Amino acid sequence: MKIKSLLKTSATGQQVTVKGWVRTFRANRFIALNDGSTLGNLQCVVDFESMDEALLKSINTGAAVKITGNYIESQGKGQSYEIQVTDLHVYGEADPESYPIQPKKHSLEFLREKAHLRVRTATFSAVMRVRSALAFGVHQFFRNEGFQYVNTPIVTGSDAEGAGEMFRVSALDLKNTPLTEEGSVDFSKDFFGKETHLTVSGQLEAETYAMGLGEVYTFGPTFRAENSNTTRHLAEFWMIEPEMAFFDLNDNMDLAEKFIKNVLVYILKECEEDLMFLDNRLKQEDKSKPQAERSPMGLLEKIKFVVENEFKRVSYTEAIDVLRNSKPNKKKKFKFNIDQWGADLQSEHERFLVEKHFKCPVILYDYPATIKAFYMRMNQDQKTVRAMDILFPGIGEIVGGSQREERLEVLQERIKAMGIDEEELWWYLDLRRFGSAPHSGFGLGFERLVLFATGMSNIRDVIPFPRTPQNAAF
Ligand code: ATP
Ligand code: MN
Repeated sequence: MKIKSLLKTSATGQQVTVKGWVRTFRANRFIALNDGSTLGNLQCVVDFESMDEALLKSINTGAAVKITGNYIESQGKGQSYEIQVTDLHVYGEADPESYPIQPKKHSLEFLREKAHLRVRTATFSAVMRVRSALAFGVHQFFRNEGFQYVNTPIVTGSDAEGAGEMFRVSALDLKNTPLTEEGSVDFSKDFFGKETHLTVSGQLEAETYAMGLGEVYTFGPTFRAENSNTTRHLAEFWMIEPEMAFFDLNDNMDLAEKFIKNVLVYILKECEEDLMFLDNRLKQEDKSKPQAERSPMGLLEKIKFVVENEFKRVSYTEAIDVLRNSKPNKKKKFKFNIDQWGADLQSEHERFLVEKHFKCPVILYDYPATIKAFYMRMNQDQKTVRAMDILFPGIGEIVGGSQREERLEVLQERIKAMGIDEEELWWYLDLRRFGSAPHSGFGLGFERLVLFATGMSNIRDVIPFPRTPQNAAF
């Protein structure tokens, strides 16, 4: 039986078998067993006097075991039920001298170097269960809304996605690369007969599917070769990208807000125990921090706040006014001072707006065309585009989206102005040639959502094996 379901069953002395890993073994008598199905450990009581000594010795923290016994109401304090062990089998021992995950507090940095074993801690198992539930919540939400799930390519032949630096995909021999007559690398000799990269976004391909299936979403890995060594950037991350025909920017914002609230409600229900544990963990962490750095709300409080309150919708122009007149700007406390309309917002500005000024999630919309991608729909003012970013407390940008430019000529002009090769985008432009229609979409970085939902502070701790600059271990 899984410990999760066992703990929900009443104990009448029935015989049960459980399998899992020993978290602790106290007094040669009490095994705390965890099988990953739930946060809680199951207490298993062995009768050491009748047990083979070698077997007893092999029950160490980290060992994989099978336990059979009678499930009874616990005689001790701290748990309601326990197993009185009648039969115990050790599948694999864990040498206490070298097994790194001992029952004591390990730092997150230490555990990052043991990423293959860290899921055997309470914190990481809780985070990963929440991550898994969130992923299911995402699919469930879109399915209920009538969306189709599409898989866009991971290897892309278009370098016009425009969302960031790309990783090259090549099967050429690096020591002996074929060259063209001009001396540059001859990609016509490469596997695909052309230059290819790992995708930074599935959006452009998703748009083609929205213009036939109506409402679609992707949920897959994306890659950015930027040297962003921050607590919110990964080189490989998972992105959810819905794309909807006949949606304007307001429909897009409504959907994004409903979506985020919906998946958070889902985990509040599904992951109560894990979230309570993570809430408590955050409170403990906060105790060791100076007052100013402590989170103003507990984790559960924060999630409920987002679920229950409307996101504040603010135009870029209004936001610039707020920032210009803000204390940190006047006192030159920002690293990048805001003095002009048109400035790109840095994460310090986004966080000021969300955490200090509006004190709630904020949707910024109608950004200057100059700082946004070519495919965003131009407004009548000819200066701003129908973009929207959702900013979250403690995270900054969690969603980036827009209404897409559906007018062929306007799009061609922007492509030209941005120096992009129109030929590359022939298929994307075809969508505007044949049955074009208003449509919109957004991208949500899945790990940033997991960060928010778990109260963890480093994005490296919410994905099993993080890829960051100088690190692709495991
Ligand atoms: P940022 O400004 O934070 O670097 P971005 O503007 O480059 O993000 P988009 O291209 O709009 O991001 O991507 C859509 C979403 O993907 C973002 O809102 C964010 O949630 C997520 N995201 C972007 N880059 C990363 C990254 N390197 N690691 C994890 N998530 C990311
Ligand atoms: Mn963005």
